[in-house]
Amino acid sequence: MSGANSGEGPLDRFRVVLHEPRDLVNVALVIRAMKNMEVGRLRVVSPAAFDAYRIEGIAHDTKDVVEGAELHDDLREAIADAEFVVGTSARRRSSKQQWYTAAEAGPALVRRALEGQTIALVFGPEHRGLSNTELDLCQAVISIPTNPRHSSLNLAHAALIVFYEIRKSAAQLTGLSARDLGQKERARAPAASSEELERFFELWQRAMETIGLFAGAEAIPKMRSFRAIFQRTGLDRREVGLLEAVAFEVIHWERRARERLAEEATDKT
Ligand code: SAH
Repeated sequence: MSGANSGEGPLDRFRVVLHEPRDLVNVALVIRAMKNMEVGRLRVVSPAAFDAYRIEGIAHDTKDVVEGAELHDDLREAIADAEFVVGTSARRRSSKQQWYTAAEAGPALVRRALEGQTIALVFGPEHRGLSNTELDLCQAVISIPTNPRHSSLNLAHAALIVFYEIRKSAAQLTGLSARDLGQKERARAPAASSEELERFFELWQRAMETIGLFAGAEAIPKMRSFRAIFQRTGLDRREVGLLEAVAFEVIHWERRARERLAEEATDKT
């Protein structure tokens, strides 16, 4: 996702739908949050203002998101292609709808995104939020827990919290660090093959023998634990190479130490 928000990762499955936003500054700050969190593409429904020049003046380096934004005049039209529609609201009404906190929504939505679903995140207008009829169009609603006597967040603040949770979950569920998330194709070396792993485990066992870890006992139980640890981390080829280098160093360091001792012993005689 270089030039963020344009790739094919789970974060790109999200459509950020701003319904009738009144304040251009809020729109710009939502766009900035989208860039920061690399979440989704923008759809704006009947905004009071949408001026690319002013938006980019407020939220720098957001040209790609602004240019890629779709303008709609109907909320239904803006969410038509979404396979899952999620509203956001400060007020938790008693409905049979699925309600999420932002933290709960993260993994639930990213799982859907990983299955290839397109997910619309709908945010309401600043002065009134989403109406019940608008929330009826949503299959689930996110409500960020706040002070009940002062529950309503600024639109862009609410968006940032939701995007942050989504990004965090995407990093956890795909096993990538948040930093790698945008560059998974380029930055990750290919996964190590079973043959490469087996070669590494042999070498690791020799290294552990060298330092006396098995202390004369069977190597199998400890090696089984090492296997479990290394297999769980999903090592790529480069990482296996690094660990092999460590094992080699251990083995060679021990051999050199032994040779040095032998030399010293002959020097003395
Ligand atoms: N006076 C309105 C506030 C709307 S705030 C009301 O009481 O509903 C504008 C938008 O920000 C909301 O429509 C929603 O999309 C988002 N938002 C604000 N506070 C939120 C919260 N606590 N949880 C989830 N979304 C929130």
